[in-house]
Amino acid sequence: MKRKIRMGMVGGGPGALIGGVHRMAAALDGKIELVAGAFDIDPAKSRQLGEELFLDSARVYDNYQAMIDGEKKLAPDKRIDFVAVCTPNNWHFPIARDFIEAGFHVMCEKPMTMSLAEALELRQIVEKSGRVFGLMHNYTGYPMVKLAKDLVASGELGTLRKVVAIYPQGWLARPIEREGQQQASWRTDPKQSGAGGCVGDIGSHADNLAEYITGLKLTEVCADLTSFVENRALDDDCNCLVRFENGVKGVIYASQISIGEENGLSIWLYGSEASIEWHQEHPNQLLFKPIDGQTQIMSRGNGYIGAKSPAAARGSRIPAGHPEGFLEAFANHYRNFAETILLKEAGASVDSLVGDFPQIDEGVRGMAFIEAVVASAKAGSAWTKLPQV
Ligand code: NAD
Repeated sequence: MKRKIRMGMVGGGPGALIGGVHRMAAALDGKIELVAGAFDIDPAKSRQLGEELFLDSARVYDNYQAMIDGEKKLAPDKRIDFVAVCTPNNWHFPIARDFIEAGFHVMCEKPMTMSLAEALELRQIVEKSGRVFGLMHNYTGYPMVKLAKDLVASGELGTLRKVVAIYPQGWLARPIEREGQQQASWRTDPKQSGAGGCVGDIGSHADNLAEYITGLKLTEVCADLTSFVENRALDDDCNCLVRFENGVKGVIYASQISIGEENGLSIWLYGSEASIEWHQEHPNQLLFKPIDGQTQIMSRGNGYIGAKSPAAARGSRIPAGHPEGFLEAFANHYRNFAETILLKEAGASVDSLVGDFPQIDEGVRGMAFIEAVVASAKAGSAWTKLPQV
C-alpha cells in the first residue's frame, strides 16, 4: 500500500489552461507521479510537452486510444493507475468511458459530459467497474469551504433559509473566440462545450459549491440565459432563481461578460441564527455573522478551525497567515482521490474524510443542473424541475 500512484494525462498540452494546474496539484504531496500522457490533439505538441517534462518518450502517445493500448501492455506495477482528463468537454465522456472500461481509475474535468444522458451512462459504467472516479470541482477542496459545510451541518446557522452563489468573470466580454483565443474558441462552440456556455463552464461550479456546503439538492430553477456578445452561439451570462430541498431558496448567477471580474466565485448562506460569507479570491477567510453578535473573521490554519471542522484542518498544509490557494484546494481532491485508490486496492474502507472529493454523482447532478437551466431559459424562464438523479 505504500507506493506512489502513477498518473497519466489526456489534454493539458502546451498553452492549455488547466492541465498544468492538475500536474502541479497532483504532485504537491509527493504521492502522485506523472508517467504518461497524450497531452494534445496535435501529436507533435504532445511529444513536445513530454520532452519538457522529461517523460519517457515511449509513454508519450499520439492519442488517448494509443495510450490505453500502450499502458495495458505494461506490467501492472508500471502502468498508470489513473488518467486525468483535461480536454474540452466533448472529449470527457469517450475518454473517461474507455479508460474505465480498460481498468484504469479516472480524474475528470467538469462539466463531466455533454448531456445528462451521457452522465447517467457513465455512472453505470463506473459503478459496474469498481474503479475510482473523481470529478474536478476544485472549489470544494478549499479548507474554509469545508468549514462552511461543517458549520451548516452542526446547526450554527440555525435553520438555513437562503443561499446566494455567484461566479462572475469578465474575460469573454469581447468576441475573442473570433481572434482564435484557444480557451474561448471551444467554450463558445456548442459542439465542444455542450448546451450551456457560461452556465456549464462556471455556473456548474457555483451550483456544486452550493449543494456541497448545504448538503441539499437543488430541486428547481427559473433561469435567464443571454448571449450578450453578438453572434455567440452559447450563453455568456446566466441568472437563476433556485429552490433547494427543505424550502431553502436562493440565487445562482454566473457571468463571463462582467468586465473587471476575474474569478469572483462567492457564496452567502443565510440561516435563522447566523450567516456565512466566503470569497474564492480571498479563500483563507470566512465571515461568520451571528444574529446578536459581531461579525467574526475565521482564518484558515488556526486551532479553532480544526475544532469545528476536521476536514478543514486536514485540508490545510501550512500555518495560518501564509496564504494557501487554488493549487492546494486542487491538491486536496487529488490527495483524497489517491488515498482512496490505495485503500480500495488494499481492500480497506474509505472514511468520510478521505472520501471527501467530488465523484460521479456530483457529475450527474451538474449535468442535471445545466440541462434544467437551459430548458428553463428556452421556456421563457419557466420554473423547471431538476430530475433527482
Ligand atoms: P484548453 O483549450 O486550454 O486545453 C485543452 C487541451 O486539450 C489542449 O492542449 C488540447 O490540444 C487538448 N486536447 C483536445 N482534444 C484532445 C484529445 N482528443 N486528446 C488529447 N488532447 C486533447 O482547455 P482548458 O481551459 O484547459 O479546459 C480543459 C477542461 O478543463 C475543460 O473541460 C474545462 O471545462 C475544464 N476546466 C476546469 C477548470 C477548473 O477550475 N476545474 C478550469 C479551467 C478549465
